[in-house]
Amino acid sequence: MTAIVDVTKCLPLVPVWIGGEARSARAERFSDVFNPATGDAIRRAPLCSADDVDAAVGAAAQAFPAWRDTPSLGRARILMRFGELLEANRGELAALITEEHGKTLDDAAGSIQRGIEVVEFATGIAHLLKGEFAESVGTGIDCHSLRQPLGVCAGITPFNFPAMVPLWMFPVAVACGNTFVLKPSEKVPSASMRMAELLRDAGLPPGVFNVVHGDRGAVDALLHRPGVAAVSFVGSTPVARHVYETGTRAGKRVQALGGAKNHAVVLADADLDFAADALTGAAYGSAGERCMAISAVVAVGSAGDALVDRLKARAQAITIGPGDRPGVGMGPLISAAHLERVRGYISRGVEEGARMVQDGRDVVVPGYEHGFFLGPTLFDRVVPEMTIYRDEIFGPVLVVLRADNLEEAIALVNDNPYGNGTAIFTRSGAAARRFQNEVTVGMVGINVPIPVPAAYFAFGGWRQSLFGDLHMHGMDGVRFYTRGKVVTSRWPDGGDAATGLTMPILR
Ligand code: NAD
Repeated sequence: MTAIVDVTKCLPLVPVWIGGEARSARAERFSDVFNPATGDAIRRAPLCSADDVDAAVGAAAQAFPAWRDTPSLGRARILMRFGELLEANRGELAALITEEHGKTLDDAAGSIQRGIEVVEFATGIAHLLKGEFAESVGTGIDCHSLRQPLGVCAGITPFNFPAMVPLWMFPVAVACGNTFVLKPSEKVPSASMRMAELLRDAGLPPGVFNVVHGDRGAVDALLHRPGVAAVSFVGSTPVARHVYETGTRAGKRVQALGGAKNHAVVLADADLDFAADALTGAAYGSAGERCMAISAVVAVGSAGDALVDRLKARAQAITIGPGDRPGVGMGPLISAAHLERVRGYISRGVEEGARMVQDGRDVVVPGYEHGFFLGPTLFDRVVPEMTIYRDEIFGPVLVVLRADNLEEAIALVNDNPYGNGTAIFTRSGAAARRFQNEVTVGMVGINVPIPVPAAYFAFGGWRQSLFGDLHMHGMDGVRFYTRGKVVTSRWPDGGDAATGLTMPILR
């Protein structure tokens, strides 16, 4: 991958991608990108200025008319080649993700696969954009509907899925005929740059896809830039709210996905070994840094003690280490600051009286003493007033609450401010049906701990987990990145009377 050396610090400087090529940013501020397993800074990301953002939006605006007018099948064919290149380069992309994020190579490769599925969905765009037609809505009058692209769309993405979350957005946006400016997390900039190269190699015209890096400065520049028609955001709830409020006030279409506190409800009739295996992966996979991680378990009735024993045994069996080492189940957290924040939450949990079942604070990985490692942590007897329950911790910390019955468990799920994902473990169809019907959460799993929808369904939460109306990918993605138009047509051939001053009646 192209990198420009920053002589001031001797770390490679990540370029931006504008107009189909890597360029140095005009930024004056920079941010170190770390390998979280070693704790070393490995490259620097520019914190782009409004000038860089203007250049990227300008390139995207210039590319828009020709890309919009490219037949949808032509756009799809480029995406097909891009999908093949992602597949062929999956190992290299996974290694970049592991290097900057810390998750295991298998986990990174799996997340790329979920992103490829969105590309596969987007290759069906010729069919997905077809409108409706009604003949003779009035005498000699026909009506048809179209969906047309919006123009320049922007995507702002979080650190925890360096490839997958951008892939939720831009394949659908460009398939619909839009051009795109991506602002990935400054903590994990390299996967986006590699995808830009693969898009170029697939034949995407210059300017259709652009990448800038940065923090709030770059984001606010995108939100205020008049040439940006729509903004897709994924990240924490406070920033999602800011992006939604600022973007919509500036007249843009915005979808902003926020944080989560995903509950799993385990009924006493569930297969507890199956549930414990599933919950261990869902709580501690990717060190809990997944928006669909299960971070709260509601054990119902007699399920509690038996479940906690099983969760403890499984948490103790997880191998912690660098994500590129075979056999490792859980890698480090993203940064030293985040590690301290999560450790602080664990201390708070102890102070507030939760029962510590498994403490991950003492973990040491030989040879990686400066890495941002934390072991799996399990609390029992947690109550809704505790900070470790109320806040999104975004680390390998699982809390168990107790409920007397399903009704009480559903009330807990619904009283939480977040509504991203949830799951129930049970052998009862009636209980599962009631749960799926009554929970006010966007994505529901039945004996499935992380119910991430397939690419041809839409991904999104409810309540504080989503600001806006449309979820990501699937038909919601197509609707978000297009706007509807309805054409009513009449071809008078001489004898027809035109409509007079009254409201015309269709007959
Ligand atoms: P974050 O909100 O800190 O950052 C997200 C993006 O916003 C990044 O590109 C960042 O550079 C930018 N940003 C950060 N602070 C900003 C500010 N003050 N103003 C404008 N832009 C700002 O999130 P993160 O730490 O990168 O990611 C973790 C969060 O993302 C968690 O809360 C997680 O639940 C959430 N997430 C949600 C989903 C979902 O689908 N709902 C998916 C993945 C992650």
